Amino acid sequence: MTRTALIAGAGPAGLTAALELQRRTDVHPILIEADSQVGGISKTINYRGNRMDLGGHRFFSKSDWVMDWWQQILPVAAGTDPQSLTYHGRSHSFVPAAGSSDPERVMLVRSRLSRIYYRRKFFDYPLKLSKQTFSNLGALYTAQVGASYVWSRLAPRRPQLTLEDFLYNRFGDKLYRTFFKDYTEKVWGVPCEEISAEWGAQRIKGLSISRAVIHALRRPFMSRNTSQKGTETSLIERFLYPKYGPGQMWEEVAAEVQRRGGELRLRHKVVEIQRDGARILSATVQDLDDGSTRQVPCDFLVSTMPINELARQLRPEDAEVQRIAGALPYRDFITAGLLVRRMRPTRTAGALSANGMPADNWIYIQEPDVKLGRLQIFNNWSPALVADPDTIWLGLEYFCNEGDGLWAMPNAAFIEFAAAELEKIGLIDRRDVLDGTVVRVPKAYPAYFGEYRNIGRVRAWLDGISNLFAVGRNGMHCYNNQDHSMLAAKVAVDCIEQGSSDKSALWAVNAEEEYHEVKGRG
Ligand SMILES: Cc1cc2nc3c(=O)[nH]c(=O)nc-3n(C[C@H](O)[C@H](O)[C@H](O)COP(=O)(O)OP(=O)(O)OC[C@H]3O[C@@H](n4cnc5c(N)ncnc54)[C@H](O)[C@@H]3O)c2cc1C
Repeated sequence: MTRTALIAGAGPAGLTAALELQRRTDVHPILIEADSQVGGISKTINYRGNRMDLGGHRFFSKSDWVMDWWQQILPVAAGTDPQSLTYHGRSHSFVPAAGSSDPERVMLVRSRLSRIYYRRKFFDYPLKLSKQTFSNLGALYTAQVGASYVWSRLAPRRPQLTLEDFLYNRFGDKLYRTFFKDYTEKVWGVPCEEISAEWGAQRIKGLSISRAVIHALRRPFMSRNTSQKGTETSLIERFLYPKYGPGQMWEEVAAEVQRRGGELRLRHKVVEIQRDGARILSATVQDLDDGSTRQVPCDFLVSTMPINELARQLRPEDAEVQRIAGALPYRDFITAGLLVRRMRPTRTAGALSANGMPADNWIYIQEPDVKLGRLQIFNNWSPALVADPDTIWLGLEYFCNEGDGLWAMPNAAFIEFAAAELEKIGLIDRRDVLDGTVVRVPKAYPAYFGEYRNIGRVRAWLDGISNLFAVGRNGMHCYNNQDHSMLAAKVAVDCIEQGSSDKSALWAVNAEEEYHEVKGRG
């Protein structure tokens, strides 16, 4: 008899699990997706022909398995220079698609440019000890930064318990307050004193003042060639990006799963799970359009739903597990898409296009007088995301909590508010806004504070259910990028293939790594 795996969620984790099951086992996948499209947070929204990426998704992984997997689905566009891709010091070579392949179903190689916007000026990101940084900050301010850094090295905070301690010790008080405090608090909505130092160690370990100083001092002594080679590998970062946004990747995978006979039900939700002690028997699936429900028996359950929801549906005998899971914190997210005719040229932005658009993929908005966190310029991710190449398609990202003032603001008011913020910091004139839309993303960030400290107890309990595999970003309450979600799904399929119920390899996927989603900047 055919064995089946019910997969809750058709985001990167769920879709990877489905395709890997089909490639490597005889287990039949049934994907249940609450949304009306696949891709989860990595979907692409099509708004009147302009495509919006919820967050700006770089496709680059330290895992060769992931890099190759993506390229099997969408090859790199024919004719692309086969230069190696480099991201955060890691390289990956690729073979562009043959000239005869479909030019629409490809990935592009993009160069990363993202800067910090602060005091109405552009700063390099990561911060460089460059002429521009000094002239933006002024000599006195720079001297104060230097002195406070030296002081923090001489008298570091011990023990280092909070994110504030971590950032103070690493950058000094002045730099911490200038570039980290407000931004981190914007992203997480809690003071840096309430976030654990462990989070900083995981997210910001690649950034350090001493490395920046060494880099700045070494530069004049490098021969021209060496220095260019150095630039090639360490500073110019290139990543892959599907021509029509990240959702294109996941739509292709969903189509392939269905071609191979897998089932996909959109606008359906797993609402209840039936188990016999430590074994899942079936799940109740609700049709979100007509409200009807049906019970689907399964041999395996792969869950990418948020852990709090999973625990609620499993009704753990241990009330403490239920309490901790129910109290896990999240940070929610809103993106406003604004279509503008032009942007206002700013002196420090460097080369601009004819309509004033800077070259950045995204910009960290450090200004304390606005709530805006990051600004995406979708034209610079892929020109194909934008319907009219003479317009600029922007994504204004706001970090918030579900139900708060920002979240509850009606869409029209939100678009007005977002445009006014961008005008206030000098990047557009409001009269140049042509159109706008708003997308709310609940639980965009699984947060690492509050009850997160007790998550081990929840994990241990979930691991005891033999045929349950909790994978993915919210599925594991882990700050995963797409690649980590995919690798966790791969490990789940390894277990299913080998008949193992040892889940330890799942939790190891993202435990040690430094990665690229936001690098401590949200
Ligand atoms: C702002 C931002 C920027 C990012 N940038 C990058 C980047 O540059 N590179 C990168 O690789 N990653 C990036 N990421 C991370 C990436 O979006 C996630 O890692 C990835 O989407 C996680 O995939 P997932 O399948 O684990 O979860 P999700 O994408 O959350 O998918 C889960 C799916 O499950 C569905 N679901 C939930 N509950 C149920 C239920 N009960 N029944 C049925 N369906 C259900 C949801 O509707 C959703 O579609 C970014 C994320 C954010 C928020």
